[in-house]
Amino acid sequence: MMEIKADTTVCIGAGMCALTVPAIFDQSEDEGTVVVLDSTPPAELEDAVRRAVTLCPSGAISVV
Ligand code: SF4
Repeated sequence: MMEIKADTTVCIGAGMCALTVPAIFDQSEDEGTVVVLDSTPPAELEDAVRRAVTLCPSGAISVV
């Protein structure tokens, strides 16, 4: 099973993650930094989550 790690101190609020997988990633109202809605995504979203990790310009999100 996949688990998502997010480092909001690294996140620059680019929003690529929320744009790519809105079911899993959101952005905080005030800072714009990443909010992980579900850190253990269902299997059918794992490919999309990996894509979001690749697209993130700051390297703030990772999967283990
Ligand atoms: S794509 Fe990366 S930098 Fe942009 S909001 Fe998501 S985690 Fe933050």
